[in-house]
Order: sequence, then C-alpha cells, then structure tokens
Amino acid sequence: MLIDVKNLAIKGEWEHLELKIYDRLPVHVRSPSAVACRFQIQQVDKYYLLTLHAKSTLTVICQRCLQEFAYQYTNVTQVALASSDEMADKLMEKYECIVTLNDQLDLQELVTDELHLYVEEFHREIKDCDNEVAQYITDASTISQ
Ligand SMILES: [Zn+2]
Repeated sequence: MLIDVKNLAIKGEWEHLELKIYDRLPVHVRSPSAVACRFQIQQVDKYYLLTLHAKSTLTVICQRCLQEFAYQYTNVTQVALASSDEMADKLMEKYECIVTLNDQLDLQELVTDELHLYVEEFHREIKDCDNEVAQYITDASTISQ
C-alpha cells in the first residue's frame, strides 16, 4: 500500500483508509487483521512529518494460555520522512525516521511494524488466562519458591 507523500502533503488533509493485513503479522495476531488508519502529512523544511492514528480490534492468541482474546489496539505515532540517510541522521534526535524512495511510503509496512512493537502477547492478568493454565502457572511458581 504505497502512498504518495508529496501529493498528500500538498493536500494537507486527514486521510482515512482501512488496511487489511495478511502478511508479516506478529505470530500472536490472527490474520487477516483490519486496521483503520487516519493520517496526515505535513511538509516541514525539507522533510515531511507523518502523524498516524491506527485503530483495530485484533484477535490475539495469548502466548501463556493459547486462548484467543479481543485486543483493542490504538496507537498514535509521528514519524519524519526523509529523502536521504544524511537527512534522517539529522532528524533522528527529534523523531523516529523513515527514509523514503521517490516520496513514496509503504503505509502497510509501517503499520505492521508497529503491531510488532506494541501489541501485547498475553492476557493482561494471569487470572484472565485459561483457568487450567493459570492454575498450573500458580502451582509451578509456588513449588519453585
Ligand atoms: Zn492467557
């Protein structure tokens, strides 16, 4: 899903699109995953600044008890889009950076990378895990003490 950075910066409006991601998802996230994106690109000096809101209800397979659960994912990021490595080096102090080729950005790639960084692998609390597994974990930790 390539987006045209330059044209979108000229428009300067908030864009909406829904990505359906099949590949390269984290192993604990069910495929396909639909992620709603709202984003805006602004030109700042010689680079572009992308503000991206991503939102989805993901199906996550808990890596502790292997039960699936609905995970409400929301994430907001701001990324600088640089046209060269040199420029990216300069911007790194202030922003997370991506070097773009011909002012094109693969939005799906970026959103997928963020899922790897931010989606939790487990039920938030052990007590939310499958009962039998939770019991087993509790027992095991009692024995090891
Ligand atoms: Zn669990």
